[in-house]
Amino acid sequence: MAYVIAEPCIDVHDRACVDECPVDCIYDGVRKGYIQADECVDCGACEPVCPVVAIFHEEEVPAQWAHYIAIDREFFGPEVSGLGAPGGAQNVGSAGIDHPLLAAVAVP
Ligand code: SF4
Ligand code: SF4
Repeated sequence: MAYVIAEPCIDVHDRACVDECPVDCIYDGVRKGYIQADECVDCGACEPVCPVVAIFHEEEVPAQWAHYIAIDREFFGPEVSGLGAPGGAQNVGSAGIDHPLLAAVAVP
């Protein structure tokens, strides 16, 4: 189980959640943050600080954003960022890429 960052983060991406994460598992794409599910310890500390209510436990993601569970997981795979589970976002910096499904979400 893990927490997931859904659509409201896109193009807001203010990184407020990053400072709250005790295991540094919230990684930066370009338009959105992505939670590494294998590193997330399910503490919930990130959820209340998000100004746009983008963060949900994966069992509580609203139905219209359910695909963000897969988006956050696939972001780390070889077909997107290839980051895997690097053990800390601070040392990675921006991945410089987003999951391709974000292209369907219009830039404001
Ligand atoms: S706090 Fe919310 S909007 Fe800001 S980066 Fe995290 S998920 Fe995105
Ligand atoms: S639930 Fe806890 S461990 Fe998981 S991303 Fe949020 S702050 Fe980090």
